[in-house]
Formats: sequence, structure tokens, C-alpha cells
Amino acid sequence: MDFSHSLATLALHAGTAPDPVTGAILTPIYQSTTFVQEGVGRHKGFTYSRSGNPTVAALERRLAALEGAEHCLCFATGLAATTALALSELRAGDRAILSDVLYGGTVRLFQQVLCRFGVTAELVDTSDLEALEAALRVPARLLFLETPANPTLKLTDIVGAARLAHAAGALVVVDNTLLTPVFQRPLDLGADLVLHSTTKFIDGHNATVGGALITRDAGLHERLAFLRNATGSIQSPFNAWLTLQGVKTLPLRMERHADNALRVARALAEHPRVTRLLYPGLESFPQHELARGQQGSGGALLAFEVEGGVEAGVRVMESVRLCALAENLGAAETLITHPASMTHAALTPEQRRAAGITDGLIRLSVGLEDPAGIIEDLRRALAA
Ligand SMILES: *Cc1c(COP(=O)(O)O)cnc(C)c1O
Repeated sequence: MDFSHSLATLALHAGTAPDPVTGAILTPIYQSTTFVQEGVGRHKGFTYSRSGNPTVAALERRLAALEGAEHCLCFATGLAATTALALSELRAGDRAILSDVLYGGTVRLFQQVLCRFGVTAELVDTSDLEALEAALRVPARLLFLETPANPTLKLTDIVGAARLAHAAGALVVVDNTLLTPVFQRPLDLGADLVLHSTTKFIDGHNATVGGALITRDAGLHERLAFLRNATGSIQSPFNAWLTLQGVKTLPLRMERHADNALRVARALAEHPRVTRLLYPGLESFPQHELARGQQGSGGALLAFEVEGGVEAGVRVMESVRLCALAENLGAAETLITHPASMTHAALTPEQRRAAGITDGLIRLSVGLEDPAGIIEDLRRALAA
């Protein structure tokens, strides 16, 4: 059997080899601005670290392999990747369609920054393919999907949405931050481009911020590389190096994250004070069948509400001891977040209400601790 393409092996080996000069097993941190040329116009592929850097390139080869693609570009942050995508592919007068539930910073970028340059963004319930089809009757250049969507975990059928968008001539981008290539392969489902905030599971250790754009389309990759160089948003060699270490254990970590999340979800489902629970891996989740068909697991995120509304929710978040009250997700540590005041504070109250982000909603990014300890911590907080 050929294991060379298994994710566990690719995560460790794809795109890197021992250093030919010293034998160092880790790709060094090439902390160098410039690269000496052998002659005018003759160099080893690197000229200046804004356009490309050997450590960043090693991470790019690794991430491309994990998504089953040829091309990847890494950025200073996830939002820098989204910005590059928009500046490269959209012009004044263009319209973008975004999933109606998605990372708050993405909404803010489109509706408070890009709108100033004549780009319109419309939030559409992409989980409803008829609503998407209707929205696509007005010309759109870009369909930006986040599935599962942060924080309510609403899903979009990527195959169906991509078919509709392509028939209407739109480019299809999937933000795959929440599931990573371990649990979802958007390019195989028809997407043109995958976006990641590598800050989350791909790094996995709360150590860096970073972003990536991954595609099989060489022309699109060329345009994005031009844009990244022209605007200067490449990742730093040190952050790329740390991310390269994190990504080695991505398949292992994702399996454990998902396993733990399912256990925590089952415990919360039985808790009398939990009034609403959203986890795609539970049969009670409205789109559980789609999750089973499209994803390799329910993922590591869940959201819930407790009896007693906002006040009771705040008490839970302030009573946990093991779970950390923090913005971010996808780290080894379990993180508990209040989307309405933290990750989705940039949305208007009306936008939050439309997206199902109630003021009492609690988001949990289940970490790698012993799940019994996480459950005990939550039970204690729910009794506080
Ligand atoms: C965090 C996040 C982003 C933005 O990434 P940064 O690295 O924080 O800029 C985009 N999409 C999703 C789903 C995220 O969770």
C-alpha cells in the first residue's frame, strides 16, 4: 500500500526535505530580507522576502499538499488573505455574495472597508440553495462560503452551491478554517479556492497569526501572488516556521478535537439547563445528514445557550476554570467565547439577530484536555 498521500504522512513530510547543506531535519528560518544573485537575472528562486521566502514557501508546499492542490500562498493573517483575494479578484462595481453567517471580521472587511472602493457584498442564506440561486440572478463575481459557519455552525452544501455559482460565472471560495483539510476538502467538492486562517487549527498552539489561499488554478494563483507582492502581506519566516511545526500534528489533533467535542456535546445535550445546542456531529443537528456527507466529523466547535438568557450565559463563561475565556478558536486549550460581545461585536444587533447569534449564545472550541475534565468544568459552571 502506498502511504505517501495519507494526510498523516503529508502533514509531516510534504514539501520539505532535510537541509542539503547541514542535514538539519527542520527547514531553517530563513530570516533574510534579500538573496544574493549569481548574475543579473540569475537567482535560486528568491529575490526579496516580500515576494517570497524559503521558509514560507516550505509551509506553502505543505498546505497545498494537504488540500490536494498545487498552489498556496501564505499571508500575515487570515484577514490579509481575504483582503488579497478581494483586491485581486474584485473591481469597483462588482458584487460579492457571502454566507449570511460567517466570521465577524470578514463581514467587517467587506461592509466597512471594501464597500468604500465600490464593491458590494450581500449576505445570503447559502444553506438554502433556492435563496442562493435567486441571489445569483443578479450578476455576482464572487461567492464566499464559510461552512460550518462561525458561530452557529450552519452548513452550506458546497457541491450544490458551487454548481449554481459556476453556472452564473462566479468564483467560489470556501473558508475551511473550522474543519481544515483533515475533515473537509472543498476543492474536491467544486470550490476554486480555499481560504484558511492558519492562526486556528493549522498552527493549533495559539502561537501565531497567519492566513493561506490554496488553489489548483495556476492563473488565479499568479494573480494572487502578484497582489500579495504588490500590497506586501506575506507571512513572516518565523511565523511560517512555527506553523510548519504545528501542522505536523494536525491530523492527530483534529481527530482528538472532534472526539472530545462529540463527548462534550453529548454531555451538554443531556444537561437540564442547556436550552439550545448546536453541534453538527449530533443527530439532533438540523443539517446532520449534510454534515455526514460533506465532512469527516462534526468538528471541534459547538455552541449552546443556557436557561436564564444572557445573564446566565455570562455567569457560565465567568465561572469556568479549565476552559479559557478568550477570543480565538482551534487551539490545544479549550476556549470559551461570547460571540455577541467578542468575535461578532463588529456586526450590528440586527445582523447578529438575522444570523441566529443571540446575546446568550456561548461558543466552545473544544481543546485537547481530558474530555472528562472539560465536562466537569462546564457542569460546575452551569451549577454556579
Ligand atoms: C479567525 C478567522 C478568520 C480571520 O483570521 P485571522 O488570522 O484572525 O486574521 C477568518 N475566518 C475564520 C473562520 C476565522 O475563524
